[in-house]
This record gives sequence, structure tokens and C-alpha cells, in this order.
Amino acid sequence: MDGKPMLMIPGPTPVPEQVLLAMAKHPIGHRSGDFSKVIAEITENLKWLHQTQNDVLCLTVSGTGAMEAGIINFLSPGDRVLVGDNGKFGERWGLISKAFGLNVDLIKTEWGKPLDPEEFRAKLEADKDKQIKAVIITHSETSTGVLNDLETINKYVKAHGEALIIVDAVTSMGALNIPIDEWGLDVVGSGSQKGYMIPPGLGFVSVSKKAWKAYETATLPKFYLDLGKYKKATDKDSSPFTPPVNLMYGLQVALQMMKAEGLENIFARHQRNTAATRAAMKALNLPLFAPDTHASTAITAVIPTTVDAEKIRSTIKKKFDIALAGGQDHLKGKIFRIGHLGFVSERDILAAIGALETTLQELGYEGATPGAGVAAAAAVLAQS
Ligand SMILES: *Cc1c(COP(=O)(O)O)cnc(C)c1O
Repeated sequence: MDGKPMLMIPGPTPVPEQVLLAMAKHPIGHRSGDFSKVIAEITENLKWLHQTQNDVLCLTVSGTGAMEAGIINFLSPGDRVLVGDNGKFGERWGLISKAFGLNVDLIKTEWGKPLDPEEFRAKLEADKDKQIKAVIITHSETSTGVLNDLETINKYVKAHGEALIIVDAVTSMGALNIPIDEWGLDVVGSGSQKGYMIPPGLGFVSVSKKAWKAYETATLPKFYLDLGKYKKATDKDSSPFTPPVNLMYGLQVALQMMKAEGLENIFARHQRNTAATRAAMKALNLPLFAPDTHASTAITAVIPTTVDAEKIRSTIKKKFDIALAGGQDHLKGKIFRIGHLGFVSERDILAAIGALETTLQELGYEGATPGAGVAAAAAVLAQS
């Protein structure tokens, strides 16, 4: 049957009907009083979502643009930065830092393993003359499903005192507790097509007072991504350039929905769906790529060992119209990834696991008892 697609990828994620309908209106002038009210409400609710009193700025960019803005606004050429690299996105922040002439110190870990906070501690403690200006961390590494230990790494950054912590929270914002003010996170970037339940096109950057202080002396070139312009406009319930008006209508409704569900409930739903998915894969004897201790609540990466991951993806797409994500770079064909980020319910998880089991049967997989995956997921969902 056509016309019933289901997105189980880590972005774009499914969009609720209320949000789609909110976007299906005529745009209005972005300098009008009516649109100022929309910006004011969005700004307030973004702060709620980010658990912060810091500025949360809204840019017409993808997540990468939000991160680029978060890096270039607070640093100068030659500044030393520590960049955690244990996947596609950590690697990207290293490349952006290099492209802008920063002195990049990569802290690498094999894909599928979490970053080791001790390596950050050692480098930060050894930096007596405070040359390290920023530490850049990907919280949920979407390419592998690994959740890095941001809280511990951030403690070492705080002990250093000088360096800013710059966080890629693109697949953790709205999926996992990130208490920005409590932890003192300086710069946190995210993107609309992930936990926000709206289509791609908006990026968000939260900026602390300490980061604004660094902004005053930072000399890397910037214009469209100059966050000072966004702050000045946002303080007046406006925007420096033309924003995607209809996407902002969608964001307004999505944030209202999130507030109605409540942060605790949103995080608990993501935990539950992650636990059910992981239990199902274990019951199917399909190894998980990320360890239980460091599992992203946005995405589960699976190594199907005896079955080609791309075959699984094409079969489940054809038979059930379910989109799963593949592996990136050297993991292509080796893993598949099940997204459970944003507007994903327990029912979606059960449907995806049932469809995956059918797909595995069709492909001749004999590594598990038929039904074991659904049973394991049901057992998790029945208890919680
Ligand atoms: C999706 C994603 C990004 C941003 O990617 P864009 O395609 O630029 O939106 C950044 N970091 C992580 C961890 C992501 O999952």
C-alpha cells in the first residue's frame, strides 16, 4: 500500500499533523506586529526547552550551520580547541575548525565507542597557561548511536576555567535531559528536523554570558552567521534576516505540544522507546553498535552480521514503507540505524520491530526465534 510512509531515521523525523496544518497558511510579513508575537512566544518556549536563561537564537540553517555559528562566533584564528571525534559529526566539527584556521587538537575514539573523559581531563589539566579556548563535543553521535559523557567532560572544562564548552546537541535536544544552566554549558547547537518535530530548515544556538564575553574579542570572519545580529534582533522580538515564516508557525505549535507533554514525559518516552528497541535487537541476536552504558536515546545502530544491512533497508522500505538509516562512510552496508527521535510513539516502535522481523524472515535470517523481538519490546513497554 502506498501513501503511508514512516520515517525511522534520525532526521528528518516525523512531523505531527497539527504542525503540518500550522505551516499550511499564507505567510505574513516578518516585520509585522503579528509576527513579533510569534517570535516572542517561540523565544520563550525555546528557553524552556533548553532549560536556560541564556539567549537561544534561531537561524535559517541546518544543524551544521548552527554548529558553525557556535564555533566561529567565539574564537580567533590560531586558537587551540579540543574536538572530540568518535563519529561522522565529531569529525565534521574538527573539519570546520580547521577550515577556519583554528589550532585543532582531535581527541579521537573508534566509531561505536564513547569518548574517554580522562583524555580531556589530562589535556585540560596540562594546559597551565590556558591556551585551550574551547572544547567541542558531540553529545549524541548520530552516526553510531553513541551518547558521549558530556556531564563528566564538562566538569573538566569547568575546572580548567578558561575554555568554553561548545556542544552539538542536534540529536539530544528534546530527547534527553540537558540542563544547560545547571551544567553551565556555554554554546549548544541543535536543528529543527531532529527532536523538534518540524521539517528541516532551522538551527538553534544557545549562548551563555561567558560565551558572549568571548564574542567581544573573537576575530574569525562572520556575517550571516554573526550571532550578535541575532541577539540584537531577538531581544526586540525580531530577526536580522527574513526567517522561514511558515516553518516558524510550525515551530510555534511543536513547542506548544512539547510543553503540554512536559520535559520529563518527553525524556521518559525516548528512554522507553530506546530500551524497547535495544531489548528487541538483543532478543533477535543482532549486536548493538553502541554499548548499553552510552546509548543515544535518538538512534539505535545495529550490526546485522549475517544479513546485508542495505538489503534489510531496501526490503523494509519496499514491503512496509519504513525508512531506516544506513551506515555512514566505512559503516555503509555494515550497520542500519533505527531512529526513535521526536514524534515517535511506542506504537511506531512495535510496528518497526514487527516489520523488521518480517524482513529478516524474508531474507532467510535464522538467528532468532520468530517473534522474539516483538516479545522483548512488548515486555519493556508493558512495564513502563
Ligand atoms: C543531523 C545532525 C547534525 C546536523 O546535520 P545537518 O544535516 O546539517 O542538519 C549535526 N550533528 C548531529 C549529531 C546530527 O545528528
